[in-house]
Amino acid sequence: MRKKVFAANWKMHKTRPEAVGFVDELMAAGPWSGEAELIICAPFTALAELAQRMHNTPVKVGAQNFYYEPQGAFTGEVSASMLKDVGCTHVIIGHSERRSLFAEDDGVLHLKLKTALEESLIPIFCVGESLEQRQAGEAEAVVRKQLTAALGELFPRPDQWMIAYEPVWAIGTGVTASPQDAQAMCKFIRSWLAERYGLANAAEIRILYGGSVKPANACELMILPDVDGALIGGASLEPLDFAEIVRRGSLD
Ligand code: PEP
Repeated sequence: MRKKVFAANWKMHKTRPEAVGFVDELMAAGPWSGEAELIICAPFTALAELAQRMHNTPVKVGAQNFYYEPQGAFTGEVSASMLKDVGCTHVIIGHSERRSLFAEDDGVLHLKLKTALEESLIPIFCVGESLEQRQAGEAEAVVRKQLTAALGELFPRPDQWMIAYEPVWAIGTGVTASPQDAQAMCKFIRSWLAERYGLANAAEIRILYGGSVKPANACELMILPDVDGALIGGASLEPLDFAEIVRRGSLD
């Protein structure tokens, strides 16, 4: 049985007081029994305070980015060990906004995945096709290439990482992939994992869906056999919406 994961991606939102206010409301909306995994991926500035606040709760704290070098003259960057130092356990890698707005290519993503795994930070590795690629019938080929290029020779244990399938056309648009399309791609990803890492490993790796997940569609998406949770942007900014997604998405 794969435990469901609900990861909030706050992007560039929330000051420290706003972040603390969110988790206080989220905790009040519980109890969260630990049956599902909850992760808040916050801006760098809020990470330390959130991790302290969430210590000894089932809620984990993740970052949205880092740089793969351990230290040095990299003005403006933050390393994996710095993230661990403030209490992060997870990090998003390969989000489409990092790929398109910050020119992160497969080579950079490979180095980030490698470093995160070496540092025992759990990557939430994002893949997904654009609308043009889907319309051209290239969705699976694009996702396969993203996985192959970024993974390279890496062989993580199933509990060391997770994948988020995020079709670019569904991110922040209000347009959600149909349950059929989401399931088809997550199943494709799992079969790619099985070819590469064997059936037993593939059966354990969590594959999340991301792209305009909200309380109204959480149930129909999270019930899909190869969807093990959600990466949530816009709807994760409101604690009660996030709580409702977790609640509805955890129903079997
Ligand atoms: C995201 O940014 O990862 C995301 C899925 O955003 P949204 O839920 O707003 O589509």
